[in-house]
Amino acid sequence: MTKHYDYIAIGGGSGGIASINRAASYGKNCAIIEANQLGGTCVNLGCVPKKVMWYGAQVAGAIHKYAPDYGFDVELKGFDFQKLVNSRQQYIQNIHRAYDNNLAKNGVQVIKGFAKFVDANTVEVNGELITADHILIATGGHPILPDIKGAEYGIDSDGFFALNELPKRVAIVGAGYIAVEIAGVLNSLGSEVHQYVRQHSPLRSFDHTIVETLLIEMEQDGIQLHTNTMLTEIVKNDDGSLTLCTTDGALDTVDCLIWAIGRAPSTDNINLQVTGVETTEFGKIKVDKFQNTNVKGIYAVGDIIENSVDLTPVAIAAGRRLSERLFNNKPDEHLNYELIPTVIFTHPPIGTIGLSEIDAVNQFGKDNIKCYTSTFTDMYSAVTQHRQKSTMKLICLGEEEKVIGLHGIGFGVDEMIQGFAVAIKMGATKADFDNTVAIHPTGSEEFVTMR
Ligand code: FAD
Ligand code: NDP
Repeated sequence: MTKHYDYIAIGGGSGGIASINRAASYGKNCAIIEANQLGGTCVNLGCVPKKVMWYGAQVAGAIHKYAPDYGFDVELKGFDFQKLVNSRQQYIQNIHRAYDNNLAKNGVQVIKGFAKFVDANTVEVNGELITADHILIATGGHPILPDIKGAEYGIDSDGFFALNELPKRVAIVGAGYIAVEIAGVLNSLGSEVHQYVRQHSPLRSFDHTIVETLLIEMEQDGIQLHTNTMLTEIVKNDDGSLTLCTTDGALDTVDCLIWAIGRAPSTDNINLQVTGVETTEFGKIKVDKFQNTNVKGIYAVGDIIENSVDLTPVAIAAGRRLSERLFNNKPDEHLNYELIPTVIFTHPPIGTIGLSEIDAVNQFGKDNIKCYTSTFTDMYSAVTQHRQKSTMKLICLGEEEKVIGLHGIGFGVDEMIQGFAVAIKMGATKADFDNTVAIHPTGSEEFVTMR
């Protein structure tokens, strides 16, 4: 028997759940199909477990680096990595329960299984056919491994979250968010960390002044960064350790290798070709600004789309707006993908919105851009031997000095950026920043006192 719905989402991650709940709130008959666990990458293998690990790393930093100079003579009996993992997974289970309850309350049918298209209106799950007037593809992505000999001896970010022991010596390959975040966490928890980047620096697309501060802090914290280096082969030794052959001729031995070299869209095995939905050569789904694919009644949101901004709030916002447009009579509702704030959970964290200095100069010309920068030692660490740098930077455009980029690294920056993002979305100028009285003593006051 074929079941029919008004709206179905393939993929119960950030985008799918947000969109389907919103549609159901308008009385639509909805189902969500999830092959693994509700919550998708963010809840199970991304933001949430990562942030718990980051908090764990922050606690380790507080004990080892800062507590003594605040007068605490801490005698540490040990660190139980498995306990941290258990606490994390318990928290995730609570989120699963909340999702189950919310979807049930909204009357959304949850279908567990892997969906494949049969035609443009029909999918098959566990041998059953499901048809819908509207179908959302929100299948996200998965980590990739390089094509080199022995790559399979390494793990990816999913494998990182499956670790039950803290590796003694670990190599992390990659230069994006995931690589720097995992490097920071493991280093802070006590691993010997080597990070390999194939270019001169990690986070090359971010503002260079902020990244320079990160590199200083990484070095001070003991992360060993191998720049302009690629791995060419991995050899597994009898004792389980791995020898890494690198382009600089070195043979480095570690206990664990983590690949963090990017992600691929999960469109390859959903039989998309029967629908006629257009994809890029890399399998990302082409959509217009309303999240419409080229096939009527099929939409896509989240990491799966071409030129995606792979962040949970982006998938959620696009998914909700899509349902507002389709089911709440708002024909122009869509997500504006400009000026999206983001945080990288390094140690210290980085927060950013808008253009980097280099991108601003390339876009508007050097003469039209003025930058304000402030570097200082945050107060939390200033009273200790482990002084930590903070850097704040504003990128301003033209005579009115409209703030088109705001970047920071330092203690508490992760919680600072959201509010500034509102101001920048509203078109704030440097004068607006100057007219705002500072909050003292905080790090964020630097943003409104720069000269
Ligand atoms: P996903 O959340 O990936 O959900 C897709 C779902 O579809 C999955 O559950 C999958 O099982 C399911 N699925 C796939 N194919 C099928 C099928 N055929 N049938 C049924 N189900 C299927 N973003 C942030 O904003 N902040 C962070 O701190 C952050 N940290 C991250 C850390 C890591 C390690 C990673 C990997 C990502 C992180 N992200 C972060 C990014 C964020 O997780 C993603 O942008 C977000 O999850 C994308 O949502 P989505 O709905 O597009 O896809
Ligand atoms: P990214 O695509 O951001 O970064 C991977 C980087 O690794 C590339 O940019 C590239 O940098 C480098 N790389 C690529 N191939 C190789 C290779 N073969 N060998 C060595 N290095 C290579 O991917 P991530 O997996 O880090 O993250 C995916 C996305 O998830 C992010 O873009 C982000 O949107 C999201 N995310 C968000 C987080 C947050 O909000 N805090 C946290 C984690 C993820 P280069 O060209 O410089 O070498």
